[in-house]
Amino acid sequence: MNLSKSIAAYEEAKPLMPGGVNSPVRSFPSVDISPIFMDHGKGSKVYDIDGNEYIDYVLSWGPLILGHADEQVINFIKETVEKGTGFGSPTLLETKLAKLVIDRVPSVEKVRFVNSGTEATMSAIRLARGYTGRDKIVKFDGSYHGSADSLLIKAGSGVATLGLPDSPGVPAQLAKDTLTVPYNDTERVAEVFKQYGHDIACVIVEPVAGNMGVVPPVNGFLKSLRKITNEYGSLLIFDEVMTGFRVAYHCAQGYYGVMPDLTTLGKVIGGGMPVGAYGGREDIMSQIAPEGPVYQAGTLSGNPIAMAAGYMTLSQLTPDDYKVFRKKADLLAEGYKAAADQYEIPLTVNQAGAMMGFFFTDQPVINYQRSKSSNLSHFRSYFTTMIEQGISLPPSQFEGVFLSTRHSMEDIEKTIQAAAYAFKTIAE
Ligand code: PLP
Repeated sequence: MNLSKSIAAYEEAKPLMPGGVNSPVRSFPSVDISPIFMDHGKGSKVYDIDGNEYIDYVLSWGPLILGHADEQVINFIKETVEKGTGFGSPTLLETKLAKLVIDRVPSVEKVRFVNSGTEATMSAIRLARGYTGRDKIVKFDGSYHGSADSLLIKAGSGVATLGLPDSPGVPAQLAKDTLTVPYNDTERVAEVFKQYGHDIACVIVEPVAGNMGVVPPVNGFLKSLRKITNEYGSLLIFDEVMTGFRVAYHCAQGYYGVMPDLTTLGKVIGGGMPVGAYGGREDIMSQIAPEGPVYQAGTLSGNPIAMAAGYMTLSQLTPDDYKVFRKKADLLAEGYKAAADQYEIPLTVNQAGAMMGFFFTDQPVINYQRSKSSNLSHFRSYFTTMIEQGISLPPSQFEGVFLSTRHSMEDIEKTIQAAAYAFKTIAE
């Protein structure tokens, strides 16, 4: 495979931007290939600047659930941008998207749009602290909620990929208020609440963890979080930036039947444009300025082009799409497992709607500890062999693999064949 233009482009970018990129995992820090510069995408495929075609399971890190350059999304963006790029005053599109989000996300009664998932979680944490008058928060090891100070403690995603300890620059005073617990460990949560319960503003959890690879909640885990937060008067925040509209039509909270107080959203609700949102119970959301005293604002929040992309993405999704996602994910999982058995490669596959996690281990992966113990050198070899066969995957074990409505059965079959070859290569 010829990647010469990508290699040259990376050399040009490196002195200009830290790591040559604007988000760390894009620099491919844990694999043996130079980052690939993309030129364009259509449906399930992306095309790099050397002209190579890939079946894409990155999908811009999750947002593109309808695949690349969806015709209706692009047309609506064009129609909207013709009117101007933004006004800093309310527009009808914000109300349209707000109605859709409130209608679709069971626990959300009121919503505020922001520009990224990070902004959504950061603002939701401030709101939880403001509402409860408490400072401490609970998060889970290996979960990633964006790059805000309070949340960069024992984080997953790129922080895990780079093997970084908690980030320098986060004030110790702030870090001490973030309590961390292993994912899926109800007992440890109970211990933390026993010790600090009345100082805890909120628990923030990915209802399906997606930043230590994909790790679904074990039976009863989310319910236990709901119960204990109720008991202590703390808020429960579901960070659905990744799972929102990806795990199920009514998001992970609809699928698992557990209602948080606040929900954070991003990725799919922006249809590929920079959007985040936080929403929840009316009485809590009314604490936000201008209705209440908790301040949060944004020059570009609710930008019409971003709202248009999000609206046209959400309005095309149907409950049936999620049945098809499950079918495709089942096929991929079965194909991968059969190939792994054939070449005696240990493999665990986790699934949740249109997100999947593949781990090179024969142990069930239920938390970050287990995810970290899978064979990372197998992952590196697998990643390179898949790229060489035209399959674009996230370049880290600790990232989710995403499906779109545009991935065809032919794409799935090709991917399974490519994985079988990658496993054969590892076995040799
Ligand atoms: N929360 C979760 C669960 C995420 O997966 C991410 C990003 O991957 C974020 C928050 C941060 O979102 P953003 O990258 O849009 O700031």
